[in-house]
Amino acid sequence: MTLRLRNLASGSAGNATLVEARSSHHTTRLLIDCGLRPAELERRLQRCDLALADLDAVFITHEHSDHVGHARTLTERYPIPLWMSEGTRRACEVHTWALQPDQLQLARDGEPVVIQDLCLHPFTVPHDAREPLQLRCTDGNRVLGVVTDLGHVSRHVVESLQACHALFLETNHEPDKVWQSNYPDFLKRRILGDLGHLSNAQAAELLAQVLHDNLRTVIAAHLSERNNAPEQAQAALSRVLGCSPHEVPVAHQAEGSDWFDV
Ligand SMILES: [Zn+2]
Ligand SMILES: [Zn+2]
Repeated sequence: MTLRLRNLASGSAGNATLVEARSSHHTTRLLIDCGLRPAELERRLQRCDLALADLDAVFITHEHSDHVGHARTLTERYPIPLWMSEGTRRACEVHTWALQPDQLQLARDGEPVVIQDLCLHPFTVPHDAREPLQLRCTDGNRVLGVVTDLGHVSRHVVESLQACHALFLETNHEPDKVWQSNYPDFLKRRILGDLGHLSNAQAAELLAQVLHDNLRTVIAAHLSERNNAPEQAQAALSRVLGCSPHEVPVAHQAEGSDWFDV
C-alpha cells in the first residue's frame, strides 16, 4: 500500500488537493476542496493522467469560496460522494444543490471516515467558518496531515497532527507584509486574527510541536500571493526542519505541486 499527495492549486484564488491510497489491486482517490472550475480541475488532473471520473470522493473543509467555490457544479454533474461538516452544509445551503440521494455525507470532528482504502480523521480548526474541518489521512500504514485555513495553533490541532509522516501545512503570510498592504483594516485584522490564517512563524511553531524523526515531508501551502514569498515560508519551516530552505516544497496557486509519497 502506498499513500501520496499532489496539490492541484493552493491559495486564496482556489484550492484542490489529491490524496491517493494505492494497493496492488485498487486505488482510492480523494479530492480535498474544490476551488477550481471543473474544466480547470480536469486540465490539472490530466497533467497527472487522471480524469474527473477517477475521483472516489470530495471532501470540503469549509464554506469559503476558495475551497467550496466549484463543488456544486462538480458534484451536480458527477455523482461523486461529497463529504463536509453539518456547519459547512448549512453555510453552503447544500439542500438547494441537485445531488443524488445519499451523495452528501456528513463528517464530524473525531469521527473517522472510511473511503475505500483511505481513512480520514477530521478535526476542527480555529477559523472564521461555521464548522471547518481539516484532515489526518491514513492508509493504515502511513499518515498525512492536511491543515490550512487556521488562525492560531490550538492544542486540538497539535494533538490531531501527532505522528504524521508528511504534512501539508499553511504558511499564509508575513505579518509585516499584511500590515503594509493596501488591504482594508478589517481584512488585515481578519487575516492576522485568531480565526484567520497561519503566518510563517505560527506554521513553524506548529511544526516544532509535531516534529519527530519520521516526519520527512513538509509542504508549505496556502501562501498569500501578496503577503508572502515562497522563500520566506521555506526559510521559516527549514529552520525547524534543520534543512536548507530550497528543500522545503511549496504548493503554488498556478501549478500546485508534484506528487509526494507520504
Ligand atoms: Zn482558504
Ligand atoms: Zn478559509
